[in-house]
Amino acid sequence: MRTFPATGISLTVKKYRGTQRLVVFYTRERGKVEAVAQGVGKPGSKLASLVEPLTLSHLFFACGRELDRLTEGQVHNPFYNLRSDLRSFAYASYIAEITARATEPGLPMPGVFDDLQASLEALDSGARPQIIAWGFALRLMERLGVGPVLEHCAGCGRPLGADAYYSPAAGGLICADCRPGAGAVQAVSSGTVALLRSLSTFPIDRLGRVSCPANSQTQIRELVRRHIEYHLGFRLQSDRFVREIEDANASD
Ligand SMILES: [Zn+2]
Repeated sequence: MRTFPATGISLTVKKYRGTQRLVVFYTRERGKVEAVAQGVGKPGSKLASLVEPLTLSHLFFACGRELDRLTEGQVHNPFYNLRSDLRSFAYASYIAEITARATEPGLPMPGVFDDLQASLEALDSGARPQIIAWGFALRLMERLGVGPVLEHCAGCGRPLGADAYYSPAAGGLICADCRPGAGAVQAVSSGTVALLRSLSTFPIDRLGRVSCPANSQTQIRELVRRHIEYHLGFRLQSDRFVREIEDANASD
């Protein structure tokens, strides 16, 4: 039986045929790996801690005809701090979901793994979770070739003036001249444009220091959501969880 080791982060876990679990990992060596873990529902399972979502582990898999099988491993970082904070946990779940849904098995992208690990480490150390999550999402879409055009007008290629808009159909920011015919657009302030460029280019571990005023947060949240829906073709379930928590915080 062929086996392979990998360093991976558990993204999602689902019940599967009794005490088994179907787990989606993102690994440094193999990209997304979907594997079955046996006996996880039984007491004392040695695999239970490895499949817990948002856990970084050294893993061993056995190759299967349809699905690989998790055989053993060792937890490297369970990111306890981010689990104890509801907002950090919600945004970490958002990061896990977009990674699980936007990537394909068998296509290793070590940069995605590094961003994922750096994001969880930043959330675990108390960085502003929304900044980390949006930075991760923008960088992931950039690596997948569908990142929003932010450096110049996506319509005509000229530099953006003071009036910039986001157009999902145009694939990014557009100028006032290109606004007619660009479909449903969203106004984006020049401060937000600068922040979006920082979020998509700064290494994740530096994003914790980026300060983002409330109006820019509203614009970035909306832009990232619309870009994911239009260019990745799905709506994140965890986005609703995140919004519920933010609404509860706002009314405190
Ligand atoms: Zn233009």
